[in-house]
Amino acid sequence: MLEKSFDSRNIEENVRRVLAEVEEAALRAGRDPNEIQVMAVTKTNPPEAINRAIRSGIKLIGENRVQEMLSKIDGIALGDCALHLIGHLQTNKVKLAAPHVSMIESVDSVRLAREISVCSEKLGKRMPVLVEVNIGREESKSGILPEALFDFLCEIAEFPGISVQGLMAIPPITDDLVQNEQFFELMHGHFIDMQAKKIDNINMTVLSMGMSRDYPLAVRHGSGIVRVGRAIFGERN
Ligand SMILES: *Cc1c(COP(=O)(O)O)cnc(C)c1O
Repeated sequence: MLEKSFDSRNIEENVRRVLAEVEEAALRAGRDPNEIQVMAVTKTNPPEAINRAIRSGIKLIGENRVQEMLSKIDGIALGDCALHLIGHLQTNKVKLAAPHVSMIESVDSVRLAREISVCSEKLGKRMPVLVEVNIGREESKSGILPEALFDFLCEIAEFPGISVQGLMAIPPITDDLVQNEQFFELMHGHFIDMQAKKIDNINMTVLSMGMSRDYPLAVRHGSGIVRVGRAIFGERN
């Protein structure tokens, strides 16, 4: 296994290291580091740990589960830190999540997009969303298959309560760095293709990919949001 193990003892130091590595990867790729957001993925971690990450300079956190998010949210001192939902979302949970989040990164069906649109309109807002792409064509994962992406975007572009901002992917976990890189390249290619289509009502500006094991590589391949959990908070139980 290439897998490193991550230490939770010093969240501040971890945040500083991740931010520095993202900056370095950006500069090395000839990108502006300010184009890249570092998300701290908070699942299983308590509000105290999350607050420590925010105090250390994290400006974006990501929650996977609506119930867990609601149970922790009163303890989180967000300040100007944004909160995105990144996990698979059931339509019956949208109503609960929508008031609390500034983006939903895991839109994977027309039905879910419609429900987010309806709930957001009721709140008087237009919810920024990303469309999740099943880039590894894995049966176990949700997400739109690449060949269905264009039609999917055209269909949900009509919904008045959402604003599509880009794409998100969770590539297959692999120890093969070459294969890992191929998935990022492939994903970036789809992102550029969809950008070039200039679909009405669709902003194709954000690509969310890269996690603890591979975020510098994702930055090299055009990621705009890296979603980092263990490298900030340590291993999960
Ligand atoms: C858990 C999770 C991450 C972060 O994974 P780490 O390996 O802890 O960095 C990123 N994205 C999603 C969707 C996740 O569920």
